This record gives sequence, C-alpha cells and structure tokens, in this order.
Amino acid sequence: MNESSTAARRQAHLLDALRSAAAPEADCAFPAAEMARLTQAGLLAAPIPRRLGGLGAGTEPEGGGLAARLLILCGRANPAVGRLFEAHVNALRLIVRFGDQAQLRAACEDAAGGHLFGLWVTDPPGECLRVRDGRLLGRKGPSSGAGHCTRALVTADIGGEAGATCLFLAALTGREPVAPVSGLHGMRAAANGVVTLDGVAAPADAQIGSAGDYLREPDFSCGAWRTSAVTAGMLDALAEMVRSHLVRRGQAGAPMQQARFGEILIARETAQLWVERACLLAEAEGGDPAAQIAYVNLARIAVESASLDALRHAQRSLGLAAFVAPHPLERLARDLTTYLRQPAPDSVLLEASAWHLGRPE
Ligand SMILES: Cc1cc2nc3c(=O)[nH]c(=O)nc-3n(C[C@H](O)[C@H](O)[C@H](O)COP(=O)(O)OP(=O)(O)OC[C@H]3O[C@@H](n4cnc5c(N)ncnc54)[C@H](O)[C@@H]3O)c2cc1C
Repeated sequence: MNESSTAARRQAHLLDALRSAAAPEADCAFPAAEMARLTQAGLLAAPIPRRLGGLGAGTEPEGGGLAARLLILCGRANPAVGRLFEAHVNALRLIVRFGDQAQLRAACEDAAGGHLFGLWVTDPPGECLRVRDGRLLGRKGPSSGAGHCTRALVTADIGGEAGATCLFLAALTGREPVAPVSGLHGMRAAANGVVTLDGVAAPADAQIGSAGDYLREPDFSCGAWRTSAVTAGMLDALAEMVRSHLVRRGQAGAPMQQARFGEILIARETAQLWVERACLLAEAEGGDPAAQIAYVNLARIAVESASLDALRHAQRSLGLAAFVAPHPLERLARDLTTYLRQPAPDSVLLEASAWHLGRPE
C-alpha cells in the first residue's frame, strides 16, 4: 500500500471516529474517555506534517480542508473536545512555523505519542509569566486543558531591557497546581483554570522562534477561522437537537416551528460557508495578507451572529424545555455562548470594515 492510500485510510478512520463520537459527559467532567478514544483514532497526530508521518491538518496548506472537517466534527460531537483540539492544532502550527527541525521532530513525536498540547498565552490580570535562569516563574490563565495538557506552548517574558515576549514549549506532568475558573457559565468540561508553572523547565532550546513571533501576521489573525469552525460544528449539533425535539414532540408540521427551523438551517449553512471560504483564503499560499485577515475577521463576526440567531430561534422553538438540564440544548447553549466570547470582537469588525473602505476603487 503506498503512502497516499495509507494517509487516506487513516483520514477516513479518524473522520468515522468523530462522526460516531459519544455525547458529552457530565457537565464539569473533562472528556477523558472521548479524548482517549479519539487519540487512539489519530486525532492528536493529525496536525503533524505529512513528511513526518501525520496528515498535515491545520499545519500545511493542503491540510486546511481536513482541519476544517475535523474541527467542525469535533465541535458538533463535543464542544470541549473541539476547544482542546483547536488549541492543540494552533500550538503545533506555531511549532511547525517557528521551531527548528529538532524542536519540530520532538513535538511531533510527542503528539504522535498522545500528548495533548495547550496554547496558553493569557496571563492573570496584573501578572506576567517570566523565564528566569531557565525556569518558568508565575502563572498562566485562564487556560483550557489545565491539569490535562502535558505540553503547553506559553508566552513568557525573557527579561532584558525590552522585556521581550517569547514562546516556550513546556513539558508538564499534569500535576501542576490549578486554580479552576469558578462560576463559569459554559465550556466547563474544557478544564479551564489558572496554572502555576513555577520551576517548570524552560531552557534556551525550549524557546520556539524569536520575540514577537506569536503575534506575527497574517497567521495570528487568520488562525481565528479554526475557532469559527468549532463554532460551526456546535451550530450543526444545535440544528440536529431542534430537529429531533420537534419530531419527537409531533410538532414537525407546525408552520411556525417549520419557519424557525428554516432560519436555523440558514444560520447553519451561513456559518459553514463562511468557515469554508475563510479556511480556503487563510490557508492559500501567496495570498494578500491584509485581504486574508479582513476576510477571517468578517467570518468570525458572521459566525457569531449566525450562532446567536440560531440560538434565539432554537430556544423559542423548544420553550422552557431548552432551559432545563439535562436537555442537551441547555448545555449546548451555555457552551456555545461562552465559546463565542473570543477576544476583541469590536476591533476585528472595525479593522475589516476599515480595510474595505480604504481599498482603492
Ligand atoms: C474558560 C476560559 C478558557 C480560556 N482558555 C484559554 C486558553 O486556553 N489559552 C489562552 O491563552 N487563553 C484562554 N482564555 C482567555 C481568553 O482567550 C480571553 O480571556 C477571552 O477570550 C477574552 O474574551 P473577552 O470576551 O473577555 O474579550 P475582550 O477582548 O476583553 O472583549 C470584551 C468586550 O470588550 C471590548 N473591548 C476589548 N478591549 C477594549 C478596549 N480597549 N476598549 C473598549 N472595548 C474593548 C470587546 O470588543 C468586547 O466587546 C480562556 C478564557 C476563559 C474564560
């Protein structure tokens, strides 16, 4: 069997595993069983570049379409898995882009071996993770996968006059102290917390790239299409929940329920079309970076609006049932509305709009 048919078989196996993924487990429980099953099916190895034995999903231009399908299916099956996989892809992509060959090989071996990578770039208010004498000093968070990720790509201040911020790849035990985010509305199963990283090794050869690489454009902004893909998958799950509820309740023939369901289908398709095109443009080599960023920024807002529209129709269709656990829509609505709160939505809309207004006629 040649290499490309082996890859096609692995891809088909992984997509099948995601299509048959189990419903989310208990509200606050990390989806350990599902992650183990999907890791076994090759999910964590999928972003490894093809020349190193992976499928290049989300890390190579040719793997963009596969990444989109995987992220949509993850979001549909289990939003927490979607959130975790999206960060895993992002971390590996940054290592592919900025790491040296030895770092890349080691990271790919880890991913193939089942290590879940986190991308932890948020510092608690008033704090800043630092590297001093080859060790991390401080905390990172809120971070998803806290206590479960065994590799974390973190931003940290390396000192010096400029106080440069660099990426470091930290090997974790999963036993680092975690202060969970309490009172969180949704996405609780993604294990969100503030992680204390004092003393974790961060030698010079764990530094990925140079100062400022994390924010390098167009990758920094364009990567948002992957978050939107997970959202589109959640919207797909929402449509299915409404469909089965209406059929079960014998309301599939009621005109107002049909009208609302039609609006939900439009929202679902809108999200998927924006995601598909954002993926195509963002992953294309040699594109105009400003145009790519503007498109992905608009896609982010379009998918957010479609999701909120669909949720409004879904909750009106189901009535109070949509707000009573354990109805699956109760949980999905909390996960979706929480996940939609991505950073700086106002500025991405304004930047995209300004770019279009400033373009020559
Ligand atoms: C559960 C959870 C898990 C997380 N996981 C991770 C993780 O794994 N890794 C990680 O790195 N981070 C993580 N984070 C951090 C997260 O990415 C950001 O903190 C969060 O998404 C920012 O969203 P926000 O709605 O607070 O955005 P904000 O950007 O603060 O936006 C809030 C609102 O304020 C507006 N706004 C923003 N700035 C200004 C301004 N200067 N002036 C006027 N208006 C403004 C925005 O447009 C928006 O309307 C996590 C956070 C949570 C809560």
